Amino acid sequence: MIPRSRLLLGATFVALAAALACSDMVSPTRGTRYDWRLIVDYDSAGPRLDTLSFHWPRNRLPVRIWVEDSLELPSRVREGIALWKGALLYGEWDGVLVSDSATADVIVRLTQPPPQIPIRLAGRVLSCSGATDVDTVGTRFELAVPVRAYIFPTIPGAADLTQCLRTVAAHELGHTLGLFQHSSDSLDLMFSEPTARFLTERDVGTITNAYHFTADMFPVGP
Ligand SMILES: [Zn+2]
Repeated sequence: MIPRSRLLLGATFVALAAALACSDMVSPTRGTRYDWRLIVDYDSAGPRLDTLSFHWPRNRLPVRIWVEDSLELPSRVREGIALWKGALLYGEWDGVLVSDSATADVIVRLTQPPPQIPIRLAGRVLSCSGATDVDTVGTRFELAVPVRAYIFPTIPGAADLTQCLRTVAAHELGHTLGLFQHSSDSLDLMFSEPTARFLTERDVGTITNAYHFTADMFPVGP
């Protein structure tokens, strides 16, 4: 099965953009970083191209993350938090697990995502898959909180499931930090079909860039 990433405008906007394969979304150049910004090119008002950067503002830190307590997913997400936090040397981002989903900024569930989607970044590895939905609340400049991520086994009981969940949890977490595109390099954690166990130099360069770049989008809610 060929893994696909989808960039769709659904619930928020009336019209749908065409589904894109991951490989269409980024240029094939290698470098110290890749583009992370959300590209919105069409909505109910017609064609209009925006390239939008997001990062969590300092006054929203630590980002409150609620994780479904199954298959040790909280431990996998904690490992992902440590990776991203470790990449940002000046405390630009921090995340903490919380027990109350009603006040969470990010909700991570161990399930397949529902069919109704705003903008979805999806990826697939061998024994598990993940997706993160980005809802721009119709304005393009507001990011609806909570951001919802989904992680789920595709081969239950697979020998590499724990490692797969670890990689995909860190990858989906990367989307929730504001990395709204995939890397074109298969070694990067933010590649659409990630196998990386750690952040590469490009992942670190990209998230650092994102957190030092003026944000166009701001979190709204819960
Ligand atoms: Zn992804």
